[in-house]
Amino acid sequence: MSEELAPGLYLVATPIGNLGDITLRAIEVLKHADRIACEDTRQTQKLLNHFAIATPTVSYHQHNEHHRATELVESLKAGARVAVVSDAGTPGISDPGSWLVDAAIAAGIPVIPIPGANAALSALVASGLSTEQFQFLGFLPEKAGARRTRLEELAAPPRDSAQTLIFYEAPHRVADTLADLESVFGAALRMVAARELTKLHEEFLRGTVAEVRQQLATRDRIRGEFVLLIEAPAKKPGAPGPDSQTRETISARVARLQAESNLDEKEALKRLARELGQSKSELYRELQRERARHR
Ligand code: SAM
Repeated sequence: MSEELAPGLYLVATPIGNLGDITLRAIEVLKHADRIACEDTRQTQKLLNHFAIATPTVSYHQHNEHHRATELVESLKAGARVAVVSDAGTPGISDPGSWLVDAAIAAGIPVIPIPGANAALSALVASGLSTEQFQFLGFLPEKAGARRTRLEELAAPPRDSAQTLIFYEAPHRVADTLADLESVFGAALRMVAARELTKLHEEFLRGTVAEVRQQLATRDRIRGEFVLLIEAPAKKPGAPGPDSQTRETISARVARLQAESNLDEKEALKRLARELGQSKSELYRELQRERARHR
C-alpha cells in the first residue's frame, strides 16, 4: 500500500481517444489504489498495460452497479483506496459512477475527483458556440417518438439569452437526430457536430443544422463518436418559439403538398415522411401532437 494515497473513493478520468490525455495524478492514483473498479475490465486493462500499472481490477457497470457499490463501500469503510474508471472520459458522466459516489457519501467516505478528459467539455470549448451558458443533456432517448418529445420540451422554455445545449450521440443515430433537430428547431439552427475528439480524424462540422446534415449526407457511412452542440436561441416569455419562427409546421407542409400535388392527407403524409426520412406513423403522431397544441 502506498503511504501517499489517502483512503477514499477516487473518480479517475481517462483519455477519450488519445492516450496522451491521461494526467500524471491519474497515473499515480491508478498505480497506488488497492483496486480499480472498471466499466469494462478488458478495456481498462489496455490502458493499464500501456502505463505499466499492475493494480487489480474489478468490474463495475450498469448491470452490477448497485450490488458492487455495496461491496466496494464495505472495503472503503475498512480503509481501502478504490479508483473508479469508465471506458473513456470522466466516470459518472453518461457512465457508471454516481451510484457508488452516493453510497460512499452516505457512508462518510471521502470522494476525490481526479479531473481529466471529457468529450462534452472538449467539444464545447472548441465549438465556437457560447461557453457562458450551456446545458449538458447526455444521450437523447433512442426511440424516435420519445426523442422528438424531449427535443420539443427543450425548445419550449423561455431563455433570456442563447444557450448551448450539448448531447452525446451514437454514430448510427446521428442522421435521425439531426433530422429531428431541424424539424423541431428549424433549418437555420446553428450547430456543431464534434467527431472523433482527440483522435487522428478529429473534426468539427460547423454551420446550420441543414448545412451539417448536407455535409454528412455526402458520406458513405457516418462513423466515429459524436458530440452534438446546438445554439438554443433566446426566447422571451410568451414570444413565439424558435421553431415557430423558422420552421414550417408538419400540418402546413402537409397542406402545401396537398394543394401543390393534389394529394389527400394520407398521400401527402407519406410523401413528406419520405422527404424527411421519417416513418409515416411517427410523422402522423407529430401531426397529432401539433394539432393538440393548437386546440
Ligand atoms: N464519460 C465520457 C465523457 O466523460 O465524455 C462519456 C461516455 S459516453 C458512454 C460515450 C459518448 O461520449 C459517445 O457516444 C460520444 O457521444 C461521446 N464521446 C466519447 N468520446 C468521444 C470522442 N473522442 N469524440 C466525440 N465524442 C466522444
